[in-house]
Amino acid sequence: MTPSDAAGLKALDRDHYLHPFTDFKALGDEGSRLITAADGIYIEDDGGRRFLDAMAGLWCVNLGYGRQELVDAASRQLQQLPYYNSFFKTTNPPAAELAETLCGLAPDHINRVFFTGSGSEANDTALRMVRRYWALEGQPEKQWIIGRDNAYHGSTVAGMSLGGMAPMQAQGGPCVPGITHIRQPYWFDEGRDMSPEAFGKVCADALEARIQALGPDKVAAFIAEPVQGAGGAIIPPESYWPAIKEVLSRHDILLVVDEVICGFGRLGEWFGSVHYDLAPDLMSVAKGLSSGYLPIGGVLVGDRVARTLIDDGGEFHHGFTYSGHPTCAAVALENLRLMAAEGVVEQVRRVTGPYLAKHWKALERHPLIGEARSLGLIGALEIVADKAAGTHFDKTLKAGETCREICFEFGLVMRSVGDTMIISPPLVITEAQIDELIALATAALDETARRLQARGAT
Ligand code: PMP
Repeated sequence: MTPSDAAGLKALDRDHYLHPFTDFKALGDEGSRLITAADGIYIEDDGGRRFLDAMAGLWCVNLGYGRQELVDAASRQLQQLPYYNSFFKTTNPPAAELAETLCGLAPDHINRVFFTGSGSEANDTALRMVRRYWALEGQPEKQWIIGRDNAYHGSTVAGMSLGGMAPMQAQGGPCVPGITHIRQPYWFDEGRDMSPEAFGKVCADALEARIQALGPDKVAAFIAEPVQGAGGAIIPPESYWPAIKEVLSRHDILLVVDEVICGFGRLGEWFGSVHYDLAPDLMSVAKGLSSGYLPIGGVLVGDRVARTLIDDGGEFHHGFTYSGHPTCAAVALENLRLMAAEGVVEQVRRVTGPYLAKHWKALERHPLIGEARSLGLIGALEIVADKAAGTHFDKTLKAGETCREICFEFGLVMRSVGDTMIISPPLVITEAQIDELIALATAALDETARRLQARGAT
């Protein structure tokens, strides 16, 4: 691409394109990065600069870029039947096959799927299913849904309401009624005055307390990610999930697990729910389902809820134009076939996950890093001002954002959430490429420390 072509595109972008999660004015002043190509775990900009994409796009390009098999699957399906809907007693071959394949990968008690176009739509669907389920069960007052602070479940109104992102909820409200949030299991920021083990239980106690406050017969479901992604790659203490499960089962409250990030291998199992043995009633999926090549999501529905919705529900007044989109489904199907054939999930569990864990943990020796945590191929670094106390820098110094921009300068895409740096690389990353990632991250941290010092940080 010539520089003038690139400049022209950036001008179009500035004048017409409102980007997601963006300060429109600030981006207009700065201008966008223009990404024009990608291959494997690398992306390339208009000037031909390559970046190691340690975020797999937006936590989704699990098989990496440039997989011809996925292009071919899309192309074949586009020629055969690009689109048809699943309304009015109609189906199509890839959607039916994908439904069966997905249920085959899910835990045994999950045998149905409702397709959506995205993760947000999946969580909207889960919310409606849960409330409908209890109404059909003759307990229409069981309607409250409990989520967690700082959780992300999407950007539709229901997704935003289920999530616990305060800046989102401050805009465009009011939220969907009947949703409440409890504290998150973020040991580094909120629990360091006790052991992770004790903190996990304290967080589960918060669930118990909220249920008691609402009335156990009024609580329909708890929704959570196995590992919080957008909140800061927050890996809960080992004690957390067993304690949460015990509370939910004691009060007969459904568990909705948001697998939009953790699903399809991220934690070294097909689903994060398998890693933590969660046996969820519903799982929302998207992103890695198609490795992000085409948009598709869904809700995997366990037998308990499915039976009631099917046997007693009559028509479920809900669905999307792109539910079961044939071309998206064909790509997802091929993506899952490739992942299974190439043993991608096992590779994460046995080889690259442990390899990353070992080398990532070593970054804790860096003077800027208070904690380096990872599980499978998701990881986070806590940038701190004081290593011993684990305190973050003054917000005005924008340490995380500074580090993110330096990463770009060095050829690495790493995301910042406040002062937490996050990675979620393509699952096909090799050990040598993990070495490269760590070397780039280390260089970026060194430079971040220098720039923060120059700004007067102590
Ligand atoms: N849930 C989680 C856990 C997510 O990370 C995301 C997207 N980042 C969503 C839901 C929403 O998915 P989408 O953007 O496809 O609507």
